[in-house]
Amino acid sequence: MSDRNDDLFTRARGVIPGGVNSPVRAYGSVGGAPRFVSSAAGPRVTDAAATPYVDLVASWGPALLGHAHPEVVEAVREAATRGLSFGAPTEAEVELAELIAARVRVGEAVPVERVRLVSTGTEATMTAIRLARGVTGRDLLVKFAGHYHGHSDGLLAAAGSGVATLALPGSAGVPAPIAAQTLVIDYNDLDAVREVFAVHGDRIAAVIVEAAAANMGVVAPLPGFNAALAGIAHAHGALLILDEVLTGFRVHPAGFWGLQQAAGEHYLPDIITFGKVVGGGMPLAALGGRADVLDALAPVGPVYQAGTLSGNPLSVAAGLATLRLATPAVYEKVDAAASVVATALADALAAEGVVHAVPSAGSLFGVAFLPEAPRSYAQALTQEAWRYPAFFHAMLDAGVALPPSVYEAWFLTAAHDDDALAVITSALPGAARAAASAQA
Ligand code: PLP
Repeated sequence: MSDRNDDLFTRARGVIPGGVNSPVRAYGSVGGAPRFVSSAAGPRVTDAAATPYVDLVASWGPALLGHAHPEVVEAVREAATRGLSFGAPTEAEVELAELIAARVRVGEAVPVERVRLVSTGTEATMTAIRLARGVTGRDLLVKFAGHYHGHSDGLLAAAGSGVATLALPGSAGVPAPIAAQTLVIDYNDLDAVREVFAVHGDRIAAVIVEAAAANMGVVAPLPGFNAALAGIAHAHGALLILDEVLTGFRVHPAGFWGLQQAAGEHYLPDIITFGKVVGGGMPLAALGGRADVLDALAPVGPVYQAGTLSGNPLSVAAGLATLRLATPAVYEKVDAAASVVATALADALAAEGVVHAVPSAGSLFGVAFLPEAPRSYAQALTQEAWRYPAFFHAMLDAGVALPPSVYEAWFLTAAHDDDALAVITSALPGAARAAASAQA
């Protein structure tokens, strides 16, 4: 029986390519019509057929506090009454930049001395790379297979997220000479890093890495990997761009970098990119880093970057309100909720004899139908991914909206209370049964 979601999907496909404005939303790897969301509050989203779901997508990360947190909504509403966009500097954007810089410091380590606000994570990483090239006078970029840094041309080579879900080798439309500027190597493989620098070291502008990979499923860096990466890049005069678009302000008040510093792993990235949580659900992202690097941006330096809506006052209001509300207690709550769900997930799959791992990085985790947590994209791709559609739809039927791809992280929020967690934990055994009886 078709419901309003099916009808909307049919209508959407008549006017929007694939019916969606970002590919993974189309449910391509799980099948069926995507749920068209009409509203969201706290840990829940409600679809166009008025069906509520406990949400584990959290807008793909931004909703750290839960959806439509009243104080964030009020901050945006209040900002809107003073104007939607000025194309001029504002006091609030200075406050947000100061807040980002102040939060991303642990002890003496201060990696963020300057901040530039942009509108999307893609812009943040794209700008970071141009900046690294401008500062070093070199062209080549090193990235890791399965890491997703947005959809700019040079970064789509062997990317994760939708590229992983759709099993695309990259993207049509990227000129070969541009793709050739990106050297793609295996994640968590320091020998590969040393080798690429040994061969191309004097031509490499930067290495870009997800602080913890979360777009090929969750694949944490091995202990010491990020620090060694910084050391190797710096020894060759290249920069380290730490992509915290997904992890920044989500897994720790100072991002995954902060989590690692607190655990005794010390290193200094040259540029850090932020997105998602930093905009509190509005289009806002940022890059931050060393003053001498960031000051190469126009109008101070020669590296051009601009944006009509950069520092948009509504986005800045949402980001400021979100970061101010994201106290250590919020992170403790998200950690605790993630631990409840991750444990229940592993228990449910174990009870049904389904080969699985629940890889994690801080409060981020996901499922992998593999006997152990993958360390690389190649390993992640060997899993029994065909089990996920049945698992996903059993959860959806039981009122839980998971990310519609096995290669995405599950996002908890501080609004996932006992009721919401109970809906998830009671749905998991049935979903595990569905995964167990799925056919390849
Ligand atoms: N970098 C990482 C690590 C991401 O996870 C994403 C998006 O998921 C991006 C960059 C791109 O951000 P946006 O989708 O805002 O362009």
